[in-house]
Amino acid sequence: MKCVAHNHEANAVCTHCGRALCADCAKLSASQRMICSETCAIALTRNEQALAMILQKSFQSARASAFYSYLCGGLSAAGAVGAYYYLPVPFLVWFTSGCSVVFLASGIWYGRIAKKQTGE
Ligand SMILES: [Zn+2]
Ligand SMILES: [Zn+2]
Repeated sequence: MKCVAHNHEANAVCTHCGRALCADCAKLSASQRMICSETCAIALTRNEQALAMILQKSFQSARASAFYSYLCGGLSAAGAVGAYYYLPVPFLVWFTSGCSVVFLASGIWYGRIAKKQTGE
């Protein structure tokens, strides 16, 4: 593989556009990636920022999902207790307590995802 600009043997590839680069052409971006030009550096930085934003968003939604799962779990548990006292139908009691267990489990699951994403 030869460098596009010079006729040297290429020893790197631009992280953004995939162009072959020799030692003279290869530059390091701010995030320590191999790049061929300023244009690619800017484009790459923009991509990384977009990715970071997506990760940030999914982290927030994991945390929100954890919160809502706990909320639904709590409500189902309250429903199970209420059903047990006021409407003692075995199916209803089992169903609501089953729901609360499922919701609480998914709350724990989402909470762990959120924690993993913050690196705690
Ligand atoms: Zn490039
Ligand atoms: Zn070159």
